[in-house]
Amino acid sequence: MSDILQGKRILLVVGGGIAAYKTPELVRQLKGAGADVRCILTAGGAQFVTPLTLGSVSGDKVYESLFDLTDETEMGHIQLSRDADLIVVAPATADLMAKMAQGLANDLASTALLATDKPVLLAPAMNVRMWLHPATQRNLKILQQDGLEIIGPDSGDMACGETGPGRMSEPDAITQAVIAKLGAGPKPLAGRRALITAGPTHEPIDPVRYIANRSSGKQGYAIAEALAGLGADTVLVSGPTNLPSPANVRLEAVETAEEMKQACEAHLPSNIAILSAAVADWRSAKTHNAKIKKQKDDRPPALELTENPDILAHLAHHPQRPELLVGFAAETDDVLDNARAKLVRKRCDWIVANDVSPETGVMGGDDNTVHIIDQSSHEAWEKLSKAEVAHRLAARIADHFSAHAGH
Ligand code: C5P
Repeated sequence: MSDILQGKRILLVVGGGIAAYKTPELVRQLKGAGADVRCILTAGGAQFVTPLTLGSVSGDKVYESLFDLTDETEMGHIQLSRDADLIVVAPATADLMAKMAQGLANDLASTALLATDKPVLLAPAMNVRMWLHPATQRNLKILQQDGLEIIGPDSGDMACGETGPGRMSEPDAITQAVIAKLGAGPKPLAGRRALITAGPTHEPIDPVRYIANRSSGKQGYAIAEALAGLGADTVLVSGPTNLPSPANVRLEAVETAEEMKQACEAHLPSNIAILSAAVADWRSAKTHNAKIKKQKDDRPPALELTENPDILAHLAHHPQRPELLVGFAAETDDVLDNARAKLVRKRCDWIVANDVSPETGVMGGDDNTVHIIDQSSHEAWEKLSKAEVAHRLAARIADHFSAHAGH
């Protein structure tokens, strides 16, 4: 991988957050992959990492101020931002995101970001409350609509002592996202469209209550990222999760099975469809407009359920049926027999079957043990991380299409 970014120029904008201390490592990794890296350091960023450090690892001048770009040898902010193949903002602070969302330009970093016509990848990092604040979430949506790509933030312990989403993605994850975007790696799924469903659905009972399940969405998100990495034009239709949008994937957020079905249909035709969502089989027959009150006689209200649409079966019978339709079978017993029966019943091409009984820790966990079942074969994969399952599945899909090319 030492020259996968050969000839690519990256402008790294370092914002003012504690995570800036990771940026020399990020520069090192990007350069290790062959890229040329030039840095803009904000005044806040300079509190956490010195220009000397960044200049030493990048091997280039570090640009700090809008108004001292006077030297003939120095580049103006316009040229600085245009002279890159990709701009990476890491850490992207709440302040930088707000400036970008509003189009403010009052320092070198924000001016270069407004002046650019190049793709921009943001790696947000901030306190969990700041990340979850409606203002930041609003800015995030605006930036996504503007076509910027977001990696992270990760969840975990933070330097401020709190726990939750807000940690900057690790330098190797950011480097991988840059490689996925710019890298000269093989793109065997270029020109193919992929549709993935992931996460649970939420089926409302009344304005405050809903039926849900424990799906985290991690496996589906990893699959979307892996397929996009192989060049597929990828849409991820996701029920409510706490996960950030994967790199290079169009994320469409939905809540209910009905919304998920409609979103899937809107994205047909698609060569590949992988339905990993844990769609609620039933929803409340009636959605109450007001919160259901306790009854006077203290008897619990009856909850009448009605069946949800089966999205997988619906796509299997659709006039624009995807060429490769993959279902998931999350089972707690007789995994293989149930999965085989499901393959036939739902008329899909492959089933990814896994045991989700509580002792396996699959639901919400980072590992998965899956079986891949098609009409004629059965593969049992060893226990792997969900990311690795995703990469192997994406590679198997690429093999499938190259074997069927021209058919
Ligand atoms: O029948 P079961 O829910 O186990 O089927 C699992 C497969 O069917 C998964 O691929 C899941 O995403 C899909 N499914 C669906 N719509 C439903 C129920 C399941 O697409 N209503």
